Amino acid sequence: MLPYSRQHISKKDIIAVNSVLKSNFITQGKIVPKFEKKFVKIVKCKYAVATNNATSALHIACLALGLKKGDYLWTVSNSFVASANCGKYCGALVDFVDIDKNTFNICCKDLHKKLIIAKKNKKLPKILVVVHLAGLPAKMKTIKQLAKKFNFKIIEDASHALGAKIYKQPVGSCKFSDIAVFSFHAVKMITTGEGGIASTNSAALEKKMRLFREHGIERKKFKNKKNIYKWYYEQQLLGYNYRMSDINAALGLSQLSRLKLILQKRNKIAKKYHKDLKNLPLRFQEIDKNYHCSYHLFIIFLIPQSAKITRDELFNKLRKNKIYTNLHYQPIHLQPYYSNLRNQKLPNTISYADQALSIPVYENLSIKNQNKVIHVLKKNL
Ligand SMILES: *Cc1c(COP(=O)(O)O)cnc(C)c1O
Repeated sequence: MLPYSRQHISKKDIIAVNSVLKSNFITQGKIVPKFEKKFVKIVKCKYAVATNNATSALHIACLALGLKKGDYLWTVSNSFVASANCGKYCGALVDFVDIDKNTFNICCKDLHKKLIIAKKNKKLPKILVVVHLAGLPAKMKTIKQLAKKFNFKIIEDASHALGAKIYKQPVGSCKFSDIAVFSFHAVKMITTGEGGIASTNSAALEKKMRLFREHGIERKKFKNKKNIYKWYYEQQLLGYNYRMSDINAALGLSQLSRLKLILQKRNKIAKKYHKDLKNLPLRFQEIDKNYHCSYHLFIIFLIPQSAKITRDELFNKLRKNKIYTNLHYQPIHLQPYYSNLRNQKLPNTISYADQALSIPVYENLSIKNQNKVIHVLKKNL
């Protein structure tokens, strides 16, 4: 069976996890801080706060930026529901911007138009969650300019984009955002089993995110104070338990040391798809010069009319050949929970959801198996 993505766990990964299991600390030991330090170096930011998953990282990012009841959070509808749910956790109102039909990322023109209207109506967003679909960075320079002009904060949902770059700046360096969030779920760029991280260059945001991650409890501040017992701590606000364990962090550390190799392999696979599928009635994400995609996903878009079969038919044909593709994503605004937004006009998001499929790309995909995918696509298209 060929899935659209799958994890790769090496012998070294297993040894790293085992050594934590045999040590004195399996949570709150030294490995999580070590993982955070290594991550900071790789994405070139100042601070990183590791969490039990990216969904909780998005939540504490929103909390740290002060998102409250009645505020607006904007994002795209062709993402995983977590990109929008983080707003809902804070009692905020969620709204969606359409995507660009060539990159499948947020459309800056649509965003600009929507901001002008929102300003008139006094409904400007407090936070924009920008999703780098498949690991292709969105147009962050333009978005940053708009953020300055219309005064909103930017969270990058970089769940797909570890290793991606814009003008040599790694996603996560927060050159164009306040906070960037990554996921280490099994099928993402690297895995910790379940896990996430939030990166930032702001000491204040880091401090707040740590507080929200750990019940709102402050400990460090009192550690070296005279006349204060070592056990002393204070709860300053209502936080959560969103910590990552040392077991998960050990897997993450080991996987991070392979990141370059993972990126090379995924890029090689993508290059071959681009070359071999060139003459089929398909479109791919348009990638600007100076933009580097991490290829968490490889997305094909069936050009309507020129393709012999529909996307759904192609999905079934591939499945019959044991190639398990997927759609990333069903539009969030069409989910029953978001039914109040069902009538929003997002034509490019809808057309994407009708025509797109993610085909296999992962570290251990062999050339033989990739050729099988290519063969079945050619035969049916
Ligand atoms: C995977 C994913 C998430 C959630 O990540 P978890 O670690 O599973 O919580 C959020 N946003 C996007 C775009 C994702 O792909």
